[in-house]
Amino acid sequence: MIDIEKIRADFPILKEKVNGKPLVYLDNAATSQKPQVVIDSIVNYYTTINSNIHRGVHTLSQKATDAYEEARIKLQHHFNAKKSHEIILTAGSTHSINIVATGFTTLLNKGDELIVSTMEHHSNIVPWQMLCERTGAILKVIPMNVEGELLMDIYTELLSNKTKLVFVNHVSNALGTINPIQEIIDKAHAVGAAVLIDGAQSCPHIKPDVQALDVDFYVTSAHKLCGPTGVGILYGKEEWLNRLPPYQGGGEMIKQVTFEKTTYADLPHKFEAGTPNIAGGIAFGTAIDYMNSIGFDNIAAYENELLTYATKKLLEIDGLKIYGTAKHKTSVISFNIGNLHPFDVGSIIDKLGIAVRTGHHCAQPVMAFYNIPGTIRASFSFYNTFEEIDILYNALIRAKNMLS
Ligand SMILES: *Cc1c(COP(=O)(O)O)cnc(C)c1O
Repeated sequence: MIDIEKIRADFPILKEKVNGKPLVYLDNAATSQKPQVVIDSIVNYYTTINSNIHRGVHTLSQKATDAYEEARIKLQHHFNAKKSHEIILTAGSTHSINIVATGFTTLLNKGDELIVSTMEHHSNIVPWQMLCERTGAILKVIPMNVEGELLMDIYTELLSNKTKLVFVNHVSNALGTINPIQEIIDKAHAVGAAVLIDGAQSCPHIKPDVQALDVDFYVTSAHKLCGPTGVGILYGKEEWLNRLPPYQGGGEMIKQVTFEKTTYADLPHKFEAGTPNIAGGIAFGTAIDYMNSIGFDNIAAYENELLTYATKKLLEIDGLKIYGTAKHKTSVISFNIGNLHPFDVGSIIDKLGIAVRTGHHCAQPVMAFYNIPGTIRASFSFYNTFEEIDILYNALIRAKNMLS
């Protein structure tokens, strides 16, 4: 069960006013807010143990290293990775995907095939297009239906022994669709292809088990699940991470450097060149602890109630159309009201203290599919309330009256 008063008290920003009105934050799919424990974790790091990791013999450096490595173990347990060195700490999902897409350059041949879906974030499209340009590999796209669900029979037809890699998001940031990733992974493996799952949008709602999924790569960003920006993970099966070359060269990723030849460090350091976001990594661990203390089952159940209530309420508005009505979806509602421009609606409700996202949501192919320039997206988190949905409803009615 969610104790909403207690939870809201954990997030200092929820007491802020925006344009003179109490903040109603419904842009959680862009980034989540941070509880006090996560803010404290960052402040404590810089206040008490700041120093560089994996280097010094001195006490502070050892404390910082221990705290950073402890976060890696927390993440290992959370995602159920077999080994802690299968968790690479990165700058976020975009960085993680680029590590894999760049690493595959030497593993692909001209004419090899890669499969993506229609409903991807640009982060899970562009790095692969760049890979195709480098290698001559061909990108195939899984289409979707008007509800925003992938056409799985066409996916099956696209797969062949030419398929080397499949990359899809677990949850669509533009539509909220929860994709059938177990089936996607199993079918890809049956033809010998590897799978990368973009979990940036799923991890705030779902606790994935990478071993049960048998997924090859799984990426996510801390900032969408109560952690800081600029930190995330790349989970990879050990054998894959050993096969991929390092992404960046630099300090901390080497075994030995001479001008004749450099040898690389073991996992995870091979992929962690340079001084990382140490405070961010530690605070990511704190965020995971915080989310688990509430419980992902509780979070999902409550957010589902918010979604059901908001869907029903918003559909009462004349001319409002929801994009993304998949059977399985998270608490995201993308919509338009008649022909009103999403930006105009977003600007008016911003004056009333409500934060929503408007535009293409870094998913232009989804907008092209529906033949629209963009949507208004309200995305709900476990710290939102039914009352805030009523405030959104009233504000939308007001915006509609002002604009039409
Ligand atoms: C946010 C998001 C990304 C990108 O995450 P960054 O933290 O900006 O790197 C990728 N994919 C999906 C589905 C997202 O929602």
